[in-house]
Amino acid sequence: MTPERIGPYHLERLLGTGGMGSVYLGRHRDAGYLAAVKVLPAAMAREEGFVVRFQREVEALRQLKSPHIVQLYDDGADDGTYYYAMEYVDGETLTDLLKRERRLPWREVIAMTLQMCAALKAAHDAGIIHRDLKPSNLLISADRTIKLSDFGVAQVFAASRLTVTGGIIGTAEYMSPEQAQGKRASRRSDLYSLGAVMYVMLTGRPPFSGESAIEVLKKHQFGQFDRPRNFVPELPSWLDELVCQMLEKDPEKRPPDAYVVSKRLQEIVAKVELQKSQDSLEAPLSDGETRLAGGGEQIVGATLMRDVIRGELSRDARTDGLHGLFNNLWVLLGLLALLVAGGIYTLRGRELNSEQRFARGVKLMEQPPGREWLQARNDYFLPLIEEDPERWKPQVSNYLDDIALYEAESRVTNRRRSGARTKASEPERWLGQVRSRWDAGDLPGAYRLLNEVRPLLEADDQSEPLRKLATRWSDMLQTQLAEASDVEAYLKRILQAADAVAQEDPERAQQIWKSVIELYQLHPTAGEWVAIARLRLQMLDGGSKTGNDKK
Ligand code: ADP
Ligand code: MG
Repeated sequence: MTPERIGPYHLERLLGTGGMGSVYLGRHRDAGYLAAVKVLPAAMAREEGFVVRFQREVEALRQLKSPHIVQLYDDGADDGTYYYAMEYVDGETLTDLLKRERRLPWREVIAMTLQMCAALKAAHDAGIIHRDLKPSNLLISADRTIKLSDFGVAQVFAASRLTVTGGIIGTAEYMSPEQAQGKRASRRSDLYSLGAVMYVMLTGRPPFSGESAIEVLKKHQFGQFDRPRNFVPELPSWLDELVCQMLEKDPEKRPPDAYVVSKRLQEIVAKVELQKSQDSLEAPLSDGETRLAGGGEQIVGATLMRDVIRGELSRDARTDGLHGLFNNLWVLLGLLALLVAGGIYTLRGRELNSEQRFARGVKLMEQPPGREWLQARNDYFLPLIEEDPERWKPQVSNYLDDIALYEAESRVTNRRRSGARTKASEPERWLGQVRSRWDAGDLPGAYRLLNEVRPLLEADDQSEPLRKLATRWSDMLQTQLAEASDVEAYLKRILQAADAVAQEDPERAQQIWKSVIELYQLHPTAGEWVAIARLRLQMLDGGSKTGNDKK
């Protein structure tokens, strides 16, 4: 059934078939390179306005370049059949991967999502919305690089009658509520789909499923899904919350853009590591082990994980005097990464062409902010700009902005933490105070102060990176404040409910308090409510113990 050729491509075999035609492995007749060639059904070209839309969209896509976006090579019509040729990714789709592994560990999900965020950011910055983000459009190469394909292609068919009649809506599982309603897609629609993809990677099932596409689309608009943590209790609650926020029905309630999502993901990894190292310092030595031995499998995963790690760390602590530094897994991993990166650089750095060096830099930028970022700038981005400013400046300027921001941020925070050696500038000092309040958990205070400092920064053109930092902090604080008030209002309600039943049904109240402690003890702003739950639980325990003693 495989046609032999189309345009300049010999078609070697069928790679797969989707809602919008078939994809073949092709080889260019003259140049000899391989390409994935998508051949569109002939009926499509007869749709009104199709050809114009197709050409306009393809033109935009050709401009799009990122290591995480499948590159578009070529397009054309051959005897009335439209096709386009793109980078061939030798690997599998996320659909295939999930079929085999069902679901993935959360750290891996974060690592993969960061790559997807990079792709979305590049496209959104260029004004292109994907509109059809789903596992079969995520191609994974042998070295686990993820590439997003079919960018903006849905747009070509958006106005087509085929969307209604011809079964083009193959997968409704990842479509945002606004798209399901037939409204225009925005950048935040892509974030909804990204949330749904994270959901399926974490839990092994999409947030909504149903008998028919229509049923699923209805659920996106009106249905409520189970939180990922219901299926995967060991999931950090921050990650659970981020996914739920991305799946908000109201686009305004979702994170503002892919960049913010990637920052939040990096923060989650950092916070989990921090939590682990704090626990290892606070925990009495025997604590982890006894609980581990006694608890068995009933302990909710999160506690179990923490206890295992705590056990490991406290065991090390007894033998290793330098544990404060070296049993921090992160520090070790960081050192290892530096060694490896350094080795690779000295061995192979000179031989790489500019594209490869750019990809190296981008890869480093996927790490959480830190030394790797500075390395990306110094070893790759700045030299590239020096070689060919016209070509590279537009590509790396976003990254350089991010790095400048990171530098400003670490200057402000480190100076405060390490007790300053060099003198802080006035704006740095103010931002340091904002950070102190923030770190102390005083979100409203930090936000108020920040709002007072911002006009000063605006007035002073020497504080460019600090100004950006202030804008970012303001966004983050706003999000955290909103989250905090949601969580707090919720916990307040729950604890009132527990108090109301405590007299008549102490066991039920006890269960509620335990759940609050279990689920929210790691939460950054729920501390007060968790403490109340603990207190109530102790009082009840105390009460029943004295009761027992009397017997
Ligand atoms: P869908 O995305 O709905 O699965 P497509 O027509 O876009 O439909 O793709 C069909 C299949 O072809 C994909 O599932 C994938 O297996 C394969 N495919 C698509 N694009 C590429 C590519 N650039 N490189 C390799 N395989 C691809
Ligand atoms: Mg596709």
